[in-house]
Amino acid sequence: MKAASSALFLEFSLLCEKLSSTSSNSEKVRLLASYLRNLESEDLGIAIDFLLGRASRVRSSEGRANVAFATVRDALCQVVTFSDDQLLQLYKEHGDLGEVAMELLSLGHAVPLVRGQLTLKRIRDGMDDIASAQGSGSEKRKVMTLTGLLLDSSPLEAKYLIKILTSDMRIGVSEGFIAEAAAEAFSVGKEAVRKAYLLVNDMSKVAVMAKEGRLSDAGFSLFTPIRPMLAEPASSARQIIDDMGRCYVEDKYDGIRLQVHKKGGEVRLYSRAMDDVTRFFPEIVEQISRLNEDFALDGELIYEGGGRLRFFSLQKLLRNEGRREKYPLKFVAFDALYARGRSLLDLPLVERKRELFALGYDNCAPFKEVSAPEDVERAFKDSIARGNEGIVAKDPESTYQPGARGKRWFKLKKALDTLDVVVIGAQYGNGKRKGLLSDYVFAVRRSRDDATLVPIGKAYSGLTDEELRDYHDFFMRNKIGEKGNTVWVLPRLVIEVGFQSIQRSARYESGYALRFPRIISVRADKKLDEIDDLQRVEDLFKAQG
Ligand code: AMP
Repeated sequence: MKAASSALFLEFSLLCEKLSSTSSNSEKVRLLASYLRNLESEDLGIAIDFLLGRASRVRSSEGRANVAFATVRDALCQVVTFSDDQLLQLYKEHGDLGEVAMELLSLGHAVPLVRGQLTLKRIRDGMDDIASAQGSGSEKRKVMTLTGLLLDSSPLEAKYLIKILTSDMRIGVSEGFIAEAAAEAFSVGKEAVRKAYLLVNDMSKVAVMAKEGRLSDAGFSLFTPIRPMLAEPASSARQIIDDMGRCYVEDKYDGIRLQVHKKGGEVRLYSRAMDDVTRFFPEIVEQISRLNEDFALDGELIYEGGGRLRFFSLQKLLRNEGRREKYPLKFVAFDALYARGRSLLDLPLVERKRELFALGYDNCAPFKEVSAPEDVERAFKDSIARGNEGIVAKDPESTYQPGARGKRWFKLKKALDTLDVVVIGAQYGNGKRKGLLSDYVFAVRRSRDDATLVPIGKAYSGLTDEELRDYHDFFMRNKIGEKGNTVWVLPRLVIEVGFQSIQRSARYESGYALRFPRIISVRADKKLDEIDDLQRVEDLFKAQG
């Protein structure tokens, strides 16, 4: 095997097992550090990618291997015998495709005459191959590649192979843990690793830099997007003032977060997940290129006509020929990250705002300085009256903290709260919607550190028929199995649900149920690790009084 010089995948799988069975954070860091310390640079990058559920580095794959459930099932069928019913039953028991694969393979599976060794590099090559397969025959190729890997897998390796393949690790390891472990493994400061990460935005690259003593090379640079700063939910205007005293308030626009980088004639747009989405919004590129300076701005892409932007995916936007005429968009800038040749991240907001307004861009978000709860209330009402979602209140002295919900920005939304949840199943509708999956079963995370999904409700979809048909196809591609009227699906679609109140209930595993739930929007911009958790459900429940 050519890849024999790479680390064994079995070692990686054993590490994952240990990580998922320990609840002690310091133990997790210790385990990670002693594993990472011994890896060569290339393996180090791959191992961290895998730990974080990033299967592939093929451009345009967005880190995913992009396999349909059927691909996994077809490959499993090549190595072990089982029925569809058995598969669904196992999935319902474990709620995890990796566990299912492990269990199936431990029933005894086909083993090749000469068994190849699985290494990190070999798995990465396989994932890249699967991620880049396109066009006719691609399905067959994906199944073949995966079958090849499964044939050489022990049950435990199969578990993590499938978890990586579906970008569904759930082993309680976050970027934060890896940053700490890299600091420990390579004897560098935690703060230096954290800072480099916020700027380079790629934990694998940062760990390799730490290993090679190159952390000081990290800096903000144009055309390398950073994680957007996030806002903490606030329960009232008073809480905002209690926490920050004086603050800036601005409307909370109901659109898509966007980072805009410009240098000379080149403009690039990045999504909240830091994907390059420039090609989707030519009108924004045109507007921005008219400006003279070079800069990086943070802001929100909104529908010019007002109202919420709700699209299934950016791909769909691109396919939609008449989109530009039907939905003209504009970019509202609310922060400046880089201007006049230097990074502004370490400057207080008050100075970043000054830099922003000095750029001469027409669509900067207006803001107001307030210091009393009544002023926050008034700003909130005015924003709702303008058709926006609420307000965001920001500490004028705060620096820009990439990726952080650091209690320096607070969001206050409409009275009726919402939860971000993931769809785990869908049911067929009645009447006009007969034959169409139109009721969605959804779940939240158990906690911030525990990504186990716990069901919390079911909502009749408020989507249009066209959208419903799109999702129907999407669910069928991600279908795991069917029981009665319900199709169980891989947890891939994040939605925002509204409701009237939360009740305690034994009906769902979460112990709570939502009264009058309804789907407010599809959050194609959010990933599985960004959904709400039970703690937030409990907080909302208590806040109801
Ligand atoms: P949510 O998506 O509900 O978690 O709220 C946070 C999001 O609100 C951010 O990620 C932005 O996309 C959006 N947003 C809208 N207006 C603003 C604003 N003025 N400042 C910061 N974020 C905003």
